[in-house]
Amino acid sequence: MPALATSQNALSNEVPDLFKSENAALENARTAHAAPHADADVYCRSLGELITHFERLMRETRRLIGRSDRAEREMNALNLQLKTLAQQLEHRATHDALTGVLNRGAVIELAGQALRDGSVVMIVLDIDLFKRVNDDFGHPTGDAVIQGIVTCLRRIVGDQGIIGRVGGEEFTVLLPTGNLADGVQLAEAMRDAIASHVFAAPVNRHITASFGVSISPGGTDFDTAYSFADAALYCAKRAGRNCVEVAV
Ligand code: GH3
Ligand code: MG
Ligand code: MG
Repeated sequence: MPALATSQNALSNEVPDLFKSENAALENARTAHAAPHADADVYCRSLGELITHFERLMRETRRLIGRSDRAEREMNALNLQLKTLAQQLEHRATHDALTGVLNRGAVIELAGQALRDGSVVMIVLDIDLFKRVNDDFGHPTGDAVIQGIVTCLRRIVGDQGIIGRVGGEEFTVLLPTGNLADGVQLAEAMRDAIASHVFAAPVNRHITASFGVSISPGGTDFDTAYSFADAALYCAKRAGRNCVEVAV
């Protein structure tokens, strides 16, 4: 059966004996060792052969250890890179690129969670007459103003609440553990911080924002809770802007 013989050869060729010469040297050494009265030349040749192979194996082992150490270091560095990228991705998915505060999706998620746990104070604010800023100074300056507003918000809110950008120039501050009076006080402080801030050139003017504050009992869905604060914000705009109104 020549066909079978050929395929068997091919198979045995695919699995070469990696230590063919070492095995031969070892076999020679075993034979010499089993013959205690052999000629000294036989021992010497066998020992020489073993030394050559042993040294080569040591060199190879050192090289492989070095290579494996390098591969481990590279793998650790890649793992670290992967972890950093995953964190960046998570941050990008939940934060607003312009201001660094939570984005709309993250606000909805967090507020929804907090509302399932209990009552939540929600403050909604919208920059007053912001279209004029864009019209007078251009969109990039408008962006810088939005960033300046967020700096004011961060300074006042600190770790008392969670700031999110829910629309173009509209923000939400959530107080998952506060009461309505805390919310109104915080909204007043934010309003005052924004109104007294002088925005840098080319704006060089005071900019204000209007605020709506609501408290929603646990179990309220996000849209309903938001609509309470938004209705109060609408009242603040109608009342002349740069003021805080409470949802009734
Ligand atoms: P009001 O006091 O009634 O809120 O007046 P307003 O001019 O602020 O009116 P409105 O809130 O409807 O206008 C928002 C404007 O904000 C319109 C839009 O072009 C601008 N805007 C929204 N998002 C951004 C942004 O990311 N950057 C800039 N520069 N402008 C934005
Ligand atoms: Mg506005
Ligand atoms: Mg608006």
